[in-house]
Amino acid sequence: MNAGNHWNDLTAQQLVRYDALFELLGVLQLDDELERIAGEVARRFKYFANVASWRLLVANGACGYLLMDGSRGEARVREVAELSSWDAFHYQNQRPYRIQLQLFADLPKPPEHLAGKGVQEVMVIPFIRNNHCRGILSLASRHDPFTELDNRFIRTFGSFFANRVSDILFRRQATAALLDRASHDALTGLSNRASILERLEGQFSLAARTGEPLAVIIADIDHFKLINDTHGHQSGDAALCEIAQRMQAVTRDGENLGRYGGEEFLFVLYPCSLEHALLAAERIRRTISQTKIVLPDLPDGLNITVSLGVATTFEQPGERVEQLLKRADTALYCAKTEGRNRVCASG
Ligand code: GH3
Ligand code: MG
Ligand code: MG
Repeated sequence: MNAGNHWNDLTAQQLVRYDALFELLGVLQLDDELERIAGEVARRFKYFANVASWRLLVANGACGYLLMDGSRGEARVREVAELSSWDAFHYQNQRPYRIQLQLFADLPKPPEHLAGKGVQEVMVIPFIRNNHCRGILSLASRHDPFTELDNRFIRTFGSFFANRVSDILFRRQATAALLDRASHDALTGLSNRASILERLEGQFSLAARTGEPLAVIIADIDHFKLINDTHGHQSGDAALCEIAQRMQAVTRDGENLGRYGGEEFLFVLYPCSLEHALLAAERIRRTISQTKIVLPDLPDGLNITVSLGVATTFEQPGERVEQLLKRADTALYCAKTEGRNRVCASG
């Protein structure tokens, strides 16, 4: 083979690699489904670098990590709370490594798929942007060590890959946080009014279809204005939070309880008869009244009570959600006028 042909071959090889790389970059740019991305990388990596298997480690929120593993064209994606000794070592170090397998002795053991049969060399590359580690890519070469060309392709691709996955995770967390904030009450952490009413609408339609009864309970703190006036608004807030927590603790599904108004709470119980709803309401009443509530300015605690109104779809078939709520509200009003700290049923 003469020199000219040799160079032509090399150039042709490089072009094929560039082509494969650009195609994969295009896929990653368009897709934001992590499993699919991992699968494409696992399938295509070998076309532009001598990579037999790999792992990408990316921080996922405040206390977790995402691991993507690729081997023999297959990928696996999972979230983990703790890192293996290999991952922890490299995530802390954040330094590049090229390791011949015989020299592994004084480093933590790599994951199995990076140390399998035929593996020649393992390379670890951290990708740092704005002083922040976006990801650690560990890669194993098969049969031959990585060449300088492999190295260049891997760095270019790896940087894009780590940033892309990290961006997708960040966007997911931001969206989840926004949704959570939009549907929850900032003070108590319960579902907010809009969200519990939406839940009620959903369960109400279900009840209409199945014919099974649905119950609502409205609970209202007794003399809450007085608590605010006597102990301050901050203590009032603390009492609200404690009461919300106690209510949450006796509710089977947190989705079914919400802050309905200032010091009012709404429970949606489905399927649930009037008899069971009354028992549930009585349990809620007791969980608030039986133990004093400790406030910032009152370490000995304060006796606080709630009044509750109960209504179910069984009493008035065919009525609308608003009418059901109105009846529960009327029952609550009865509980107030009859002396508070009690449960009343509609009708
Ligand atoms: P009743 O037993 O008849 O229900 O009397 P009440 O004092 O509880 O009822 P009222 O409707 O007169 O007062 C409700 C009070 O709840 C007034 C309002 O300032 C207070 N409140 C509403 N939301 C909050 C809140 O988020 N934090 C605090 N600290 N107070 C709140
Ligand atoms: Mg009220
Ligand atoms: Mg009240």
